[in-house]
Amino acid sequence: MPNPIFANLPTTVFEEMSGLARELGAINLGQGFPDDPGPAGLRVKAAEAVVDGYNQYPPMAGLPELREAVARHYAGAQGLDLDWRTEVTITSGATEALAAAFLALIEPGDEVVVFQPAYDAYLPLIRRAGGTPKLVSLQPPHWRFDEAMLQAAFGPKTRMAVLNNPVNPAGVALPEEDLALLARACVAHGAVAVCDEVWEQVVFPPARHHPLIAQPGMRGRTVKIGSAGKMFGLTGWKVGFLCAAPELTHALARAHQFLTFTTPPNLQTAVAWGLDNSPGWFAEMPRTLERSRDRLAAGLAREGFAVLPSQGTYFLNIDLPASGIDLPDRAFALRAVHEAGVAGIPVSAFYEQDPVAGILRLCFCKGDAVLDEGVLRLARARDLARRG
Ligand code: PMP
Ligand code: GLN
Repeated sequence: MPNPIFANLPTTVFEEMSGLARELGAINLGQGFPDDPGPAGLRVKAAEAVVDGYNQYPPMAGLPELREAVARHYAGAQGLDLDWRTEVTITSGATEALAAAFLALIEPGDEVVVFQPAYDAYLPLIRRAGGTPKLVSLQPPHWRFDEAMLQAAFGPKTRMAVLNNPVNPAGVALPEEDLALLARACVAHGAVAVCDEVWEQVVFPPARHHPLIAQPGMRGRTVKIGSAGKMFGLTGWKVGFLCAAPELTHALARAHQFLTFTTPPNLQTAVAWGLDNSPGWFAEMPRTLERSRDRLAAGLAREGFAVLPSQGTYFLNIDLPASGIDLPDRAFALRAVHEAGVAGIPVSAFYEQDPVAGILRLCFCKGDAVLDEGVLRLARARDLARRG
């Protein structure tokens, strides 16, 4: 018999909504991926590396040139002092990095603190690793946590806390004081933190990304996860970074060697090149996205939608009840894609308990014409929903 943890799961909401959008020819503001093809320099490097480069197994921990580039990048961008030899592992996307962290660091019976909204991969993988999730629920519009919420979730069996920051789908970059609270709880309970920071580079000033690993007491107990797919808007590349102190990295590498062992060397070569040769990219990319965010937000506001603020990620959220829509988010999302030809992601899909059920997530890394048409279709969906 298949294991029920996976066998009983539905297809992920991202795949479901993208599948419907493909099938129905709808505009896809659901799953997060840019419409443009990504930086030409990286794509040319990857192509050259396929044609002229080395296409056999690279070292298990990743190409040295990429591990060095990752450590250099985080030193420059976030002031971190990672030793590429002992503290950086390249994985097949952040998804593999998460799986490796859960498999390597959770023992059956351990409690794992997880924040809702939770990225879809967390809970099934944590359970399969033997962990028992303890949920902390974040609520719109601020999506923040406080000491009492942490105290209710942490206990003597807590082995790990899993944080996603900047937060998908909330679109917030958590302030340092929240990270300090979490750091204190992890230190007090001797817990490891897995911090999924795939959106670290997609933050709109004045908001800033603060790495959890830089909080007091966290350098030796944090697994920091990054993704080149998000850094360079190449979401299909699946090149991830696992960064942690040597003792943790040793265990993480043992899990990684039996999950994928390695990641395509040509993509690693191109990402290494990109990290070292994209002087303007990390300032320019958020500026371009911010313009798209503002265009979508302004269009939605003009049509009478209540838009929540977005400080980062590819996403902004609309508050359905405040926009005059009485349907639960999932019901509205299904009607919008079927009846009006526009796909979004119901935020309730990121909750296992007591879902926040009146928020729809929209992806704004699309061309202006797509965003404008998306707004009109959402307005049509709302009008149809109002008529019953
Ligand atoms: N974590 C979060 C919060 C994400 O949003 C995503 C992808 N959108 C991932 C992990 C997966 O990243 P990757 O594609 O590098 O596996
Ligand atoms: N992270 C992407 C999103 O939130 C989806 C990734 C996926 O489909 N697995 O839209």
